[in-house]
Amino acid sequence: MMGRLFFFFLWGLFVYLLWKVLFPDTRHSHNGGAPDGKMEVMVHDPNCNTFIPRPEALPKKIGGKTFYFCSRKCMKEFRARTRKGTPPTQQT
Ligand SMILES: [Zn+2]
Repeated sequence: MMGRLFFFFLWGLFVYLLWKVLFPDTRHSHNGGAPDGKMEVMVHDPNCNTFIPRPEALPKKIGGKTFYFCSRKCMKEFRARTRKGTPPTQQT
């Protein structure tokens, strides 16, 4: 009686393991959501107050600090603004 039950149990286990071997869980495949290494770095344009991807931004050193701009227009505008704002370095 008990031996028979045990046999059925073993048989079930065997079938289960065989099934696992024949049909492995495909959810564990490698091509899942691997994070791609190139996270886009966003930089701030202080002139128009927008964020642009760093490779597309125009870097400009102003007063020892590097600023990034979305366009030459913004760069010029910001430089003009900072010049106006900066105190006595005028040569008149
Ligand atoms: Zn801009």
